[in-house]
Amino acid sequence: MARYTGPVCRLCRRNGEKLFLKGDRCFTPKCAIERRPNPPGQRSPRRRKVSDRGLQLREKQKARHSYGVLERQFRRLYREATRLPGPTGDNLITLLELRLDNVVYRAGLAESRAQARQIVCHGSITLNGHKADIPSIETKIGDRVGWTARGRGTKFFEMVKEWQGGREVPGWIAVDPAQLEASVSALPLRTDVDAKFDENAIVEYYSR
Ligand code: SF4
Repeated sequence: MARYTGPVCRLCRRNGEKLFLKGDRCFTPKCAIERRPNPPGQRSPRRRKVSDRGLQLREKQKARHSYGVLERQFRRLYREATRLPGPTGDNLITLLELRLDNVVYRAGLAESRAQARQIVCHGSITLNGHKADIPSIETKIGDRVGWTARGRGTKFFEMVKEWQGGREVPGWIAVDPAQLEASVSALPLRTDVDAKFDENAIVEYYSR
């Protein structure tokens, strides 16, 4: 399972805005964008003029980095989005949101998508009662996300209990706070998602 393993704050600095890839740290003054808002590298912090194509590419990269998806997977999701009824950009967001690691994150069971991905890969998460260790699994309405016995025995599980109270969960996910389990109760729509990118620019990028 390939994934980006480089410094994630660099991705935010490259895009010139916060992508919230590090959980709570992103909301503190330690955030790299707060301390060094210029692009990474040794060259002058002056910004160059960016072409339309460059702007579309940037939106696509922001989406990809936000969800921790590599180019090949992202392109596959885009192709799937074009085959579904409705606007392709909206479909793409729905497919990204339905990824298992994103559902774990949105349900407040992890601090960031990267952490959600890690606990899924480590075999701590179940989908409909069975261990699910593939972060890219596409969930559907009615799917239930819970913990394996191993996951419930970790210190991390105890930490999640403490966060739960303060996390805002989107309307398309129902959380059982007693069991720290979640279920997908509806399809995530564009209006439900605080996406930090322009999905129409992504569609234009791939349509050329
Ligand atoms: Fe981006 Fe978060 Fe790093 Fe700030 S702390 S640069 S928002 S990943």
